Amino acid sequence: MNRAAENITQAADAPAASNRAEELLLEFLREHDAACPVCGYNLKALTRAICPECGQELMLTVGAARLRFGWLMAAVAPGFFSGIAAFFLLVPIIVPPMFNHQRWSLTLIGMDLFGWSSGIFAILLAAKRHRFLALPGSTQRWSALGIWMIHAAALGMVFLIGPRFL
Ligand SMILES: [Zn+2]
Repeated sequence: MNRAAENITQAADAPAASNRAEELLLEFLREHDAACPVCGYNLKALTRAICPECGQELMLTVGAARLRFGWLMAAVAPGFFSGIAAFFLLVPIIVPPMFNHQRWSLTLIGMDLFGWSSGIFAILLAAKRHRFLALPGSTQRWSALGIWMIHAAALGMVFLIGPRFL
């Protein structure tokens, strides 16, 4: 087959494929209820791939079944909270030593460093979320639980040994 003929065949194939998708869409809608993604009109028994209510052109797409963000949210939440807390913790760290000649509180500085690291970790995790979401469900769950345990332990340490150094 020469180049020109090849191009013609390819051009003819593309509309054929989209027609097939439209056929499948209409076939699905013959027996199923589905709401128009724009206006919510029930598209069952549609004869053309256009919403009769709002005129939106419709197409066949692939959707993800039960995409779960739960563990990602759980894994990221303590870090975001710690990051924000670390920002406000700068006030009691910096302000008192500036006015009276109080020494720096090592506990507060330690807490603040933990908060910043945790916040940065959460931001990195959110940025690499696709890699986290690709992990098996159990790994996601244990990672989230591990992150919560680290934060609970850090908070516990602050209450247990913190007052001695404050
Ligand atoms: Zn519609």
